Amino acid sequence: MNLQGKHGLVIGVANEHSIAWGCAQAYADAGASLTLTAQNDRSRDYVAPLAERIGADLVTLDVREGEQWDAVFSGLAQLDFALHSIAFAPKADLQGDLVDASAKGFGIAMEISCYSLIELCRRARPLMKSGGSITTMSYYGAQRVVPNYQLMGPVKAALEASVRQLSVDLGGDNIRVNALSPGPIATRAASGLAHFDELMRKAAADAPLGTLTTIEDVGQFAAFLASASARHVTGQTLFVDAGYCARD
Ligand code: NAD
Repeated sequence: MNLQGKHGLVIGVANEHSIAWGCAQAYADAGASLTLTAQNDRSRDYVAPLAERIGADLVTLDVREGEQWDAVFSGLAQLDFALHSIAFAPKADLQGDLVDASAKGFGIAMEISCYSLIELCRRARPLMKSGGSITTMSYYGAQRVVPNYQLMGPVKAALEASVRQLSVDLGGDNIRVNALSPGPIATRAASGLAHFDELMRKAAADAPLGTLTTIEDVGQFAAFLASASARHVTGQTLFVDAGYCARD
């Protein structure tokens, strides 16, 4: 995987446990230069030392803030690939049954976890003059009922459907759009799910490879997708879960 001379935008590093951090390291190892985003001043404190470690630029982006999107994109002279690795749902809606979810909570989850990918694609398109690759992060709960995944199931289903449609919208510009679907990984976002330790135990026990997925595993696949080696891969949801979904 060679990303020499390529520039990537990485949205979703919160700390060194973030899946986006595993991806950022793999992109940098493959030779890419990067711009990382931090959601706010508090997360900048955690992300700044990581950005420094790989020589990346750091900007602030809360995806609900239009002027922050403007600032991020006006600072980019070149963009070859982008990673969208963010999700959020209000805790009360996330931890209750889907049938009890509020319209407001569902809307916030959709806006931050799904619509922001559409926004990213729209803004990235004019900068990706010689084509590009945009990758988002989904989860198996988009396709099957996973205990305690609750309203994030339909939100991730919408994300995967958006990936398919966006791959058509942007295919004519040679921009590829894909989702990776990792197995459960202990991150800050995952800690918001009830009984997440049980999900991890089951994933390790039932996966054909008998192991959990790491952020490094996801990073390797993300770097492949960003590279020319994946030039005919678009519109897909690709699992990095040690084979769990083949068996469940
Ligand atoms: P994480 O907590 O490290 O990352 C989540 C990121 O979302 C954070 O960087 C946070 O700042 C960002 N975010 C939330 N609201 C935002 C907003 N309004 N604007 C900008 N950024 C915002 O957790 P993670 O597990 O690395 O999550 C990354 C992605 O991976 C998510 O889409 C998640 O659903 C997906 N995923 C996670 C797992 C898992 O088990 N951890 C499995 C499959 C998919």
